[in-house]
Amino acid sequence: MVLPKYKAVIQIRGCFWHCHNCKRGTVPKTSQDYWIPKLRATVHRDRRNDELLVSMGYTVIVIWECQTTRPEEFEIFMDVLVRRTLLFKPV
Ligand SMILES: [Zn+2]
Repeated sequence: MVLPKYKAVIQIRGCFWHCHNCKRGTVPKTSQDYWIPKLRATVHRDRRNDELLVSMGYTVIVIWECQTTRPEEFEIFMDVLVRRTLLFKPV
């Protein structure tokens, strides 16, 4: 999601595919020759894209899948995160 007024991007990332440091972000025990390079490439691409966006003046906000499991908490979490992040950014 892009917030052009604030030059901000909100990305919701799946814990498995983007290797979050949580129980969902673990590499499968089977076929590791396949999974490890694939997941590392995804993390590398994320990092490269984040750096590019930041170099263009964007604020990048990452929300992890595991942070979205409780809707009532997620709404508060998003509100606080977005307000805190964007409040201090000059428009
Ligand atoms: Zn996670």
